Amino acid sequence: MPDFKTIDDAGDLTGKTALVRVDFNVPMNEAGEVTDDTRLTAALPTVNALLEKGAKVALMAHFGRPKGKVVPEMSLKPVAEAFSKVLGEPVFFAENCGFHEKAHAFVDSRSAGDVILMENTRFEPGEETNDPALAKDMAKLADIYVNDAFSAAHRAHASTEGVAQLLPAYAGKSMEKELSSLDAALGNPVRPVVAVVGGAKVSSKIDLLKNLVGKVDVLAIGGGMANTFIFADGVAVGKSLCEPDLAGTVKEIQAAAKASGCEILLPVDYVCTKEFKANAANRVCKPGDVADDEMILDAGPQSAKALVDKMAASKTVIWNGPLGAFEMEPFDAATVTAAKGAGELAKAGKITAVAGGGDTVAALNHAGAADDFTFISTAGGAFLEWMEGKALPGVEALRK
Ligand code: AMP
Repeated sequence: MPDFKTIDDAGDLTGKTALVRVDFNVPMNEAGEVTDDTRLTAALPTVNALLEKGAKVALMAHFGRPKGKVVPEMSLKPVAEAFSKVLGEPVFFAENCGFHEKAHAFVDSRSAGDVILMENTRFEPGEETNDPALAKDMAKLADIYVNDAFSAAHRAHASTEGVAQLLPAYAGKSMEKELSSLDAALGNPVRPVVAVVGGAKVSSKIDLLKNLVGKVDVLAIGGGMANTFIFADGVAVGKSLCEPDLAGTVKEIQAAAKASGCEILLPVDYVCTKEFKANAANRVCKPGDVADDEMILDAGPQSAKALVDKMAASKTVIWNGPLGAFEMEPFDAATVTAAKGAGELAKAGKITAVAGGGDTVAALNHAGAADDFTFISTAGGAFLEWMEGKALPGVEALRK
């Protein structure tokens, strides 16, 4: 990670306070209990590393969408309790403190080795507008800033970007892992690289597809979006999910792929059905064989095998989106076969396999392949923007 300053570069932090942006936007039930502590445990390596260096640690995070107002149900108080259990130490919650004088006094009153959690950053009207006055108040809380929330790094908010300009800024351990994994998948990958892009629509992934064709050796398209590619090639797709208006965009993507020597891999057989429901009667069709009253809900077995073969001949796989309507059996088959294939190759050390974005994590979990991937990003929007080749403000602020 030559480009980014990490906690290891921060030196001894005795007597110093570290302000750490974490992702504590955890799922919570109606009783205010955290139902999945993955994001809390993800913060442990950073918090422990800073404590070992002698720091006082003040954590800040957003929770929900209170839109600049204090919404008591969106307080981070229950999260402080949950994080305390995960950490095995008390976590001092800066209740009703905001980020102004009261917050400064609260943080000052704690000692080295203490862990503090500030209140929801999005209670502040200046958070999402990246108000310099709020960033300044945040910076006054600490001596250094650490960003460990890749998932929020695509937003230029006061807690992710503004404050990073005002203090020595470092990538936390989770952020570091995310950045180095993404770099290994798309920044500086070992070639050949296969990108697998599935999901519902081309329209939501135009920038992503355009960026990938210039970077990867093979772009495998699946899911509903493959139908638009198939349609653009003049092949009938019946009543499949398809965006005919985007045929021109598909042609542009195909031309850009040709110019940069990227092979576009489309399904060579499809699983078709007349009804959009689980276990609906279905059959495997060849291109040109889809009837008007049929829809394609998955790639066929030959397509799944062809994709696994391509991945086996590659060194790096980057994956976003399912290859079919994977929530409904048996239309999960291609996604499951390909995900298992990628997982096995990664587990055997033959490829680096990185995946991320929204439904992808659910699809790989469903396939039982997630643990075998080299790295799975749980960031949704930030992962997609990074795959689109966009600069993420919260990451840029950490560059050396
Ligand atoms: P996205 O959010 O763009 O990644 O799309 C994911 C959604 O696309 C999932 O809910 C899938 O069920 C859906 N999907 C994938 N393939 C198809 C298809 N052939 N027809 C309809 N929906 C699909």
